[in-house]
Amino acid sequence: AKAQGKNYWKVYSDQVDDTERSDLSLESAMYEGIENGEFMLHYQPIFCTQTGQLKGAEALMRWQNPSRGFVSPMKFIPLAENSGLIKILGAWALRSACYQAKQWQEAGLKDFYISVNVSPRQFVQEDFLDMIHKALNESGLLPGNLMLEITEGVLMENPQRSGAVLTQLHVAGVKIAIDDFGTGYSSLAYLKRFPLSVLKIDKSFVDDVVNSAEDMAIVGTILSLAEGLNLLVVAEGVENDAQLGFLRQEGCNLVQGYLTGRPVHSDAFKEKYMA
Ligand code: C2E
Ligand code: CA
Ligand code: CA
Ligand code: CA
Repeated sequence: AKAQGKNYWKVYSDQVDDTERSDLSLESAMYEGIENGEFMLHYQPIFCTQTGQLKGAEALMRWQNPSRGFVSPMKFIPLAENSGLIKILGAWALRSACYQAKQWQEAGLKDFYISVNVSPRQFVQEDFLDMIHKALNESGLLPGNLMLEITEGVLMENPQRSGAVLTQLHVAGVKIAIDDFGTGYSSLAYLKRFPLSVLKIDKSFVDDVVNSAEDMAIVGTILSLAEGLNLLVVAEGVENDAQLGFLRQEGCNLVQGYLTGRPVHSDAFKEKYMA
């Protein structure tokens, strides 16, 4: 398949525009990168705002290519999503993250959860649930210590099927977080239809929450909504004490951001957070 890809590239290269061209070469670099083990996960800690206790971590994909250097997930995830490569990468991320979380638990982190991003294409994969069960079985991680982060858009595309999938995950004990909450176009009705555990407030609402009356109102509304629905809230992108102070005072349960910890390699994570 790889050789074919290269021929295709030669024949058509002068017909594609620059964006397509760089997308295509990035895509084939990604294929090679997977084979060469250039992808890894970094982990960003998530803390309780009240106690300061470490509660979990979000696994974030990283790609370091010898010639391209570090490529942002904002760039390669959408490409992986379009090309279908996300199925391989996503399955790998899930397995690695579960395995890592189990190791940290055995090394002393109790009740620690791992949060893994699930892309739209992965979520509609036929063997999605199988993949989750496999990752749990192989790692020995308890389902209750796995959180899957999905976006509103994924749920709304096919609410019926999404509901069925989420219900099965819920029955199995796996937790669900709505990522980038409030940035999609969905109705709030789904909040009562689906078995959710966490809302993640997008960084874009947190950035100016201390100074902007609008953002303050949005964050406040999300927090009271979550309280009424019995959901936990994670604020992402917390960078300073003023933001943390506001969020804590308003009852936001959990925080994740550069202030409390950047995403780091698993070795650094262990060193920093496991005394
Ligand atoms: P996201 O899921 O919203 O992840 C949070 C992003 O915010 C991460 O960017 C994280 O490094 C960044 N962040 C966290 N705290 C702060 C902060 O205080 N300040 C700033 N400036 N940034 C902060 P990252 O790692 O570059 O990932 C970008 C996006 O790529 C993620 O957004 C997610 O949508 C996607 N992504 C990353 N890893 C995966 C993965 O394994 N699977 C899938 N499907 N998507 C992933
Ligand atoms: Ca493509
Ligand atoms: Ca996320
Ligand atoms: Ca976000």
